[in-house]
Amino acid sequence: MHYADRETDENGEVVAGTIIWATGVRGSSVMAASGYQAKQNRMSVTPYLQDPADDRIYIVGDVAAVTDSKTGQILLTTAQLALVMGKITGKNVLAAVTGYELTPFTYKSLGTVCSIGNTSVIGGGRR
Ligand SMILES: Cc1cc2nc3c(=O)[nH]c(=O)nc-3n(C[C@H](O)[C@H](O)[C@H](O)COP(=O)(O)OP(=O)(O)OC[C@H]3O[C@@H](n4cnc5c(N)ncnc54)[C@H](O)[C@@H]3O)c2cc1C
Repeated sequence: MHYADRETDENGEVVAGTIIWATGVRGSSVMAASGYQAKQNRMSVTPYLQDPADDRIYIVGDVAAVTDSKTGQILLTTAQLALVMGKITGKNVLAAVTGYELTPFTYKSLGTVCSIGNTSVIGGGRR
């Protein structure tokens, strides 16, 4: 595996039979800069993905901490999750301004895809 360290500009190669990637993913510092007291810049939201203090504000993607209704665990930040949140929020904003009922956020993973570098990918689907 080749790497490029953005802080030191060092480039190199790690040779191994098995590589376990444990890079943390967190929300954006935009949350703290906007005055949100969010844990790791991920904000707990209402079932409709709104700011609990102001239902006119929707918080989606990596900066939203949403709970899996089945396990009670906070869902991991993935592109798939962000896309589902975006779709539901688009519909809910339209519903809010036209006086219709909002749809609560639900999520069913289609499986996981993980890109490794520019040429490889691993994935696991649901049965
Ligand atoms: C190294 C890495 C690998 C990943 N691999 C996978 C994978 O294989 N599969 C998967 O499902 N997920 C993967 N993810 C997670 C996935 O990328 C994120 O969950 C997803 O992109 C979140 O979407 P988002 O819209 O919330 O945030 P982002 O995609 O990060 O979009 C946020 C946007 O806001 C912009 N922005 C930031 N600050 C400001 C500002 N002050 N003003 C204006 N704009 C601003 C940014 O430039 C960016 O365009 C990976 C993440 C990382 C870091």
